[in-house]
Amino acid sequence: MSAPVIAPPAYHHLLRSVYGYETFRAGQEAIIAHVAAGGDAFVVMPTGIGKSMCYQLPAMCRPGVGVVISPLIALMHNQVEELRAKGVRAACLNSSLTPMEARDVEQRLLAGQLDLLYVAPERAVTPRFLELLEGVSIALFAIDEAHCVSQWGHDFRPEYMQLHVLAERHPNVPRIALTATADRVTRGDIVERLRLDRAQQFETSVNRPNIHYAVAAKDEPRQQLLRYLRERHPADSGLVYCQTRDRVEKTAEFLVKHGFPGVPYHAGLDAETRRRHQGLFERQEHVVLVATVAFGMGINRPDVRFVAHLDLPTSVEAYYQETGRAGRDGLPADAWMVYGLADIVTVRRRIADNGADEHRKMVEHRKLESLLGYCESTRCRRQVLLEYFGERMADACGNCDTCVQPVASWDGTIAAQKALSAVFRTNQRYGVAYLVDVLLGNASERIARNGHDRIKTFGVGADIPKAQWQSIFRQLVAGGWLQVDLGEYGTLSLTARGRALLKGEESLTLRSETVAAKQPAKRPTRSAPESTVPEEDRSLFEALRQTRRRLASENGVPAYVICHDTTLIDLARQRPHTAFDLKSIYGLGEAKITRYGEAFLEIIAENAKTAPFANAVSWTEGDL
Ligand code: ADP
Ligand code: ZN
Repeated sequence: MSAPVIAPPAYHHLLRSVYGYETFRAGQEAIIAHVAAGGDAFVVMPTGIGKSMCYQLPAMCRPGVGVVISPLIALMHNQVEELRAKGVRAACLNSSLTPMEARDVEQRLLAGQLDLLYVAPERAVTPRFLELLEGVSIALFAIDEAHCVSQWGHDFRPEYMQLHVLAERHPNVPRIALTATADRVTRGDIVERLRLDRAQQFETSVNRPNIHYAVAAKDEPRQQLLRYLRERHPADSGLVYCQTRDRVEKTAEFLVKHGFPGVPYHAGLDAETRRRHQGLFERQEHVVLVATVAFGMGINRPDVRFVAHLDLPTSVEAYYQETGRAGRDGLPADAWMVYGLADIVTVRRRIADNGADEHRKMVEHRKLESLLGYCESTRCRRQVLLEYFGERMADACGNCDTCVQPVASWDGTIAAQKALSAVFRTNQRYGVAYLVDVLLGNASERIARNGHDRIKTFGVGADIPKAQWQSIFRQLVAGGWLQVDLGEYGTLSLTARGRALLKGEESLTLRSETVAAKQPAKRPTRSAPESTVPEEDRSLFEALRQTRRRLASENGVPAYVICHDTTLIDLARQRPHTAFDLKSIYGLGEAKITRYGEAFLEIIAENAKTAPFANAVSWTEGDL
């Protein structure tokens, strides 16, 4: 497609003709209008709302090419692929191109034949590239994943620090920087380092209403995962995060053994395997990618139906970023986590060992505490998350585990005092397993040898089951009444707060353990997209899905590049007969109608033959 000079609201027309959407999502329009008119912008918008459109549309409205700085090669390729499928003249320049391919892109750039060019940051600041740009009309600069410029952000990339040179060379070209999550300090840093002092700031609510949040006590994580997948996501694709490479490998193997398409991904795999597995995740219809956090930023797939954490992430920000990869297509999606006491110890140990200075360590401990507060909360999870990011939500969301199945809480003061007393009377030298045995009155050989079967606390907790004691200890550690020694044995000792509680100077409320992992709330057991299709449309939906699969393999692109599930759902519901009808289908722009419209109409017509009111298909190019 060409990029004529069109005055706003030309982008309204492009929204329909290129993307096939009728309306903008929260915040998009104001940003697009501002940048299309030549203004600088700094955008904080959560993953999955639609940041890309905020620079793509203004780039298409303005004369010249939109230059997009993007840190990940895989993501660049996916975005270019998606744009091309929409008929946009997009290309990328990065180290994966052959010299011939790169020259070809450069020539198209110089000839004014590109609407959007994606460039890696290290290339964008080379003298060669800067010189190349001198001869080109530039619509705008977009700096994606802008938090990479800040050392306070979570993915610092030194190359980003040089990007201000773009502003110096091209002071009249509008710039838009975008990020999904950045706290106040990081934001200030971004504005300063990218010299965005004249930029208007846009901030969208971080809420992701279609994501359901749930946290359960960790018991046997792999078995819990398996149960969860069987019950909630038997045919869906998703991500499973584990903290170590070894656990990634074992979990992926375990899933395969139980009939799920588990694929491992971590930094210890060689580059080729990583590339292949990432490719599988992008292209395979049903896949469960098990990964360390090494995997993530480059995910473009919109139909990730669940993100499961088998280990605790490092902070609420990291958790939100990781879970944000679910449900970009707006259909229902799940964020599910299991966590236990051992996780707290692991994260604390990692903070202790990471070589950072004391101030940084303190910040990290505080971040961990916020995350634990989220895990242990008896309130609506979404309210807790949004408050963390400085937003208030008046009502509970109705779409998280604590909303669906309210958590009972109980006055745990006495139980906690018993637990603390067990710690104190055994001289603060033992871990949870030992202490629980003391409380239950299990006279193991070790306990007898130490004479701990004769202390006052021995057996005082026999009325509470073992699992509940474990939960109580976890909550006492998470809430700061007990601290865990980071050595090998995980010895527990009292904090000042713990002593106060033991002396009866404090009381506390504990959460009754959630059983969410064992008894999920009643939700459809079908895959999410399917479950939103009415019964009578399901066979057509399935037929359309097969057609999409065929088109994807013929074109060598992932299925979602042909169209999203939301488009298939709309097709199954509306049952269009003509190319003209296709114009009102969600997510079908002109290029896609021309390329794939006929295939979809055919399958709808075929399906209609078996239905009582069959209608003939009339297809002509002229209909468009
Ligand atoms: P981000 O980079 O912020 O995670 P993307 O730009 O990848 O988000 O967009 C997320 C998804 O939302 C994409 O699949 C995109 O097609 C879709 N999307 C964006 N804007 C709209 C809109 N106005 N209406 C419907 N879908 C949209
Ligand atoms: Zn809620």
